[in-house]
Amino acid sequence: MTLDREPEVLIIGAGVAGIATAVTLRQHGFENFTILEKGSDVGGVWHWNRYPGLTCDVPSNLYQFSFAPKPDWPGVFAAGEQIQRYHREVVERFDLAPRIELNAEVVDAEFDSGRWRVTLDDGREYTADFLIAATGVLHTPNTPDIPGLNRFAGEIVHTARWDDAVETAGKRIAVIGSGSTGVQIVSALQPTAAHLTQFARTPQWVLWAPMNLPQPRIVSAALRAAPAVNAALYDGLLWGSGILADIVTRPSWRRSLVQSYARLCLRVQVRDAELREKLTPDYQPLCKRQVISGSYYRAIQAPNAELVTEAVTEITETGIRTADGREHDIDVLVLATGFQTHNYMRPMRLRGRDGLTLDDAWSKGPRAYAMTAIPGFPNLFTVLGPNSPTGSISLQYSAELTARHIVEWLRRFRTVT
Ligand SMILES: Cc1cc2nc3c(=O)[nH]c(=O)nc-3n(C[C@H](O)[C@H](O)[C@H](O)COP(=O)(O)OP(=O)(O)OC[C@H]3O[C@@H](n4cnc5c(N)ncnc54)[C@H](O)[C@@H]3O)c2cc1C
Repeated sequence: MTLDREPEVLIIGAGVAGIATAVTLRQHGFENFTILEKGSDVGGVWHWNRYPGLTCDVPSNLYQFSFAPKPDWPGVFAAGEQIQRYHREVVERFDLAPRIELNAEVVDAEFDSGRWRVTLDDGREYTADFLIAATGVLHTPNTPDIPGLNRFAGEIVHTARWDDAVETAGKRIAVIGSGSTGVQIVSALQPTAAHLTQFARTPQWVLWAPMNLPQPRIVSAALRAAPAVNAALYDGLLWGSGILADIVTRPSWRRSLVQSYARLCLRVQVRDAELREKLTPDYQPLCKRQVISGSYYRAIQAPNAELVTEAVTEITETGIRTADGREHDIDVLVLATGFQTHNYMRPMRLRGRDGLTLDDAWSKGPRAYAMTAIPGFPNLFTVLGPNSPTGSISLQYSAELTARHIVEWLRRFRTVT
């Protein structure tokens, strides 16, 4: 029997992965898809994360879809809101809006009699031949389990759910966290804070880069006028990101060079030996996703800033107590404490063949064939799923490649006899 209909596809999530998948399906003639997105807008992390100082740490001309080149980014490293605007523009340009259901959280997905049955939080049900999870790894905020957290009388805000109503100017601020977000928010809040204390259990190597470098208008105009040059720039950056992947994963003179640069950034920018000691990680540069900033070392050395590396033991009504018994009085507590990465796709209940749950399938950790196919879950694909976010290659490129792989399976499904 040859199927006489197009495969029906449900995509969960309208971030980079969901948008890349939808456009790729459309480009290959698959039109029967719907995107279910729990947020009130598209864009994924760029919709949910709106904290001060949020900036892409990948050159904007690379952090974009190959099918939607944008020659006129305002800066070499675009701000979060500019990237979010780009996502809205892409959705508009490819006429995806009619296919997207916003405020539609999938709570249950079950493979039953050869089809996926999906239930939303409001009880609505959908069925499809294929289910594509583009739900994001950095989605569910991680709130640390620190004793007394709910006793604090001031404001607590997680960077991933920033609340513009929280006043930070003139306040005593504590930031817990030292990853890319911790570094960005310390740089952004320090200039107007009465005092800012960063609590960092593990300091990170911070590479200096000109994060505020504007893209000159003449460059934007030239790239707009010459799409071939813009495409060549994108290809060049993609090639460059391949070198970065090599630097991150293999010993070589190139890796040693970048590691020396990381040490030099710290030595040149932080003159105080005691602070430099505190800021020196106990592992080699490039062993974690690299933090990049043009302003962090300046911010943490400002007279109103302090770095605390003592462990946080308790949150009190008025502040933070550390292992050395010191009390740090604060008004605002900012949690730059990341995401529950191992809860990828959860809390959605996912059941594959013979009722296999995702928790059982992944009892030893998340894994998928070619980052996308999970044994026991037929016709389910993940995009930017397990092992995709390597931190050194273009995620748009990665998502587009996975989407093309999915297209091959949709073709086989359509032509199966
Ligand atoms: C603060 C921050 C800054 C970052 N900066 C960079 C950077 O500079 N460079 C870089 O390369 N990467 C960066 N990243 C990594 C970023 O995660 C990826 O670049 C990319 O945006 C991930 O896209 P995604 O579509 O896989 O996931 P997401 O953007 O997380 O999108 C997933 C979408 O799925 C939706 N969803 C989840 N569960 C459900 C459900 N059950 N039902 C319905 N919808 C659901 C979510 O609401 C979300 O909109 C950053 C991440 C964060 C959090």
